[in-house]
Amino acid sequence: VPDSADAVLDGLDPEQREVATALRGPVCVLAGAGTGKTRAITHRIAYGVRAGILQPSSVLAVTFTNRAAGEMRGRLRQLGAAGVQARTFHSAALRQLQYFWPKAIGGSLPRLVDRKIQLVADAAAACRIRLDRGELRDATAEIEWSKVTQTVPADYALAAATAGREVPRDPAEIAQLYAAYEDLKRGRGVIDFEDVLLLTVAVLQDRHDVAEQVRAQYQHFVVDEYQDVSPLQQRLLELWLGDRDDLCVVGDASQTIYSFTGATPDHLLDFRGRHPGATVVKLVRDYRSTPQVVHLANGLLTQARGRAADHRLELVSQRPAGPEPVYTEYSDEPAEAEGAARHIRELMDSGVQAAEIAVLFRTNSQSETYEQALADAGVPYQLRGAERFFDRPEVRKAISSLRAAARFGDNDSLLDDVVDLPSQVRAVLSGEGWTTQPPAGSGAVRERWESLAALANLAQDFAAARAGATLSDLVTELDERAGAQHAPTVQGVTLASLHSAKGLEWDVVFLVGVTEGMMPIAYAKTDEQIEEERRLLYVGVTRARERLHLSWALARSPGGRPSRRPSRFLKGLRPGSGSAGGRTATGGPGGPGGVERGFGGGGTAAAVPRRMPRTPARCRVCGRTLTDAGEMKLMRCEDCPSDMDEGVYERLREWR
Ligand code: ATP
Ligand code: MG
Repeated sequence: VPDSADAVLDGLDPEQREVATALRGPVCVLAGAGTGKTRAITHRIAYGVRAGILQPSSVLAVTFTNRAAGEMRGRLRQLGAAGVQARTFHSAALRQLQYFWPKAIGGSLPRLVDRKIQLVADAAAACRIRLDRGELRDATAEIEWSKVTQTVPADYALAAATAGREVPRDPAEIAQLYAAYEDLKRGRGVIDFEDVLLLTVAVLQDRHDVAEQVRAQYQHFVVDEYQDVSPLQQRLLELWLGDRDDLCVVGDASQTIYSFTGATPDHLLDFRGRHPGATVVKLVRDYRSTPQVVHLANGLLTQARGRAADHRLELVSQRPAGPEPVYTEYSDEPAEAEGAARHIRELMDSGVQAAEIAVLFRTNSQSETYEQALADAGVPYQLRGAERFFDRPEVRKAISSLRAAARFGDNDSLLDDVVDLPSQVRAVLSGEGWTTQPPAGSGAVRERWESLAALANLAQDFAAARAGATLSDLVTELDERAGAQHAPTVQGVTLASLHSAKGLEWDVVFLVGVTEGMMPIAYAKTDEQIEEERRLLYVGVTRARERLHLSWALARSPGGRPSRRPSRFLKGLRPGSGSAGGRTATGGPGGPGGVERGFGGGGTAAAVPRRMPRTPARCRVCGRTLTDAGEMKLMRCEDCPSDMDEGVYERLREWR
């Protein structure tokens, strides 16, 4: 913990310090990836608290995911500023709504609907609209979009046309469906994910007493990833603020990747127009990535078009030179996954920590192939965006067993004296099926083991740090951590979608499936959609600190028709792909002018038929066990999201 408020400013550059010390009035930070935006606002809050200018409980920091919120709370604790609320828009709104609902509306807050797509299907049946599976998902996405843009059914057709939405059916039908869905939902007494924000906005708008109470509680607002704020979130922010302007926003228009859900960088780019006295700070020094990675990131943006691109900021790497990005072409997808897994194994054998490696993909359905390949190579992994640690059934069950054991220990104090803590924990966790060595295979069994292993490590660290700690102390600590969603680090390679990798970083990043049809995704048609795909790749590239591997496969399956081409976004940037302004790697693994083919002889492995997973398939989104063959293929249940509405569900999943 820094010993003074000023010491909190150590380790910030002059522009970051400007952000950290501008504690009053509107502040806007416009900066590219890895320039320390999140660091600057975290230190800003800590500095304000340590200097006695900000009351911890009066600060509301809004982040994009629960995970980012947890990381920020952890960092604030380290800086000596615990007690600050760092939450997502949804979790902050839900908390307020639960608190004020009985008073403002009466009764308790309605239950959140858990099978939304079923509700949409029922609504479609009620108005005799026949939709196939794909149309149902698209129609659901349209309803969600309408709600976050605060479009009522009567205005849907016009709004959808104005926004250039690709509507699955006659807009009048979608409007009718949307109205029926709302009626049905109300009739069943449930609310959906979007309602949480809508209702909070409604309560704050209608009830001045409630709004005043919320405003009396929160006086300083900080919003990270502001480029992806939806109109509804923006409205909520304005209501929280009232006529005050102690607001600090940070964002990077080039990282807008949720506009398909209604988010827009306009709020960020127009900030100064709305707050004429705002302090605007630009950061261009990139502290995250090597010059090689930064060069590629800048190159991607050079080719970008549109409003976000007009505001791009060229990044300047502050780090020493590292290896050139590696581009690898494979014959098919399993060979690509195997190649990545083998390379990861080698990195780990040479001392790279698994937790410092990530495999990032465009759609969650790509994950399964990589899980299998990593498991085959004996590499531990974790899925980002899977259930939150303390919400995982095995973790909940293990903690309740620890609690029971602690109660027993309290009654029989001899036990604590005789056995020192870690072995008690091991005994309890063994009862839950945990073994010291990881089980063979991948999937659910492996994930369960990783969770219990993380819990065991946590107990060990706790015991090491606190001599004489008892099982009851440990349970108290676990309860506290669960309340703060302060999850332990699960050691393993991270598998994550590009959307959920936002804001995060790893030493080594494997960007896989960099093909036409994936990046950009096949359904991206309009110029705007294509630009969003390019930004998504930019987000992916800028997650890497040291090493970046980009790969693609020419065919989907071994022996399949080689119908795929590398992504158009790499044109001129990767060696041997024309000269649209990029430089070519010299002496890279691909050799001059070429790309490496099938890492480690993937070409021959390609001919071997692959074994498919044998563990029970679970839905990527809600974790439910899947039985339907179609669902198993997608690793996602029918009522969970299509890739198109992944962003919305990403949040839903975090929220659960
Ligand atoms: P993104 O756009 O991806 O969210 P960001 O702008 O929020 O990125 P941070 O995550 O805050 O960037 O910082 C990127 C990395 O650079 C982090 O590891 C951070 O600790 C480091 N960093 C930021 N500023 C400095 C600094 N002044 N000195 C040293 N390291 C820094
Ligand atoms: Mg950030």
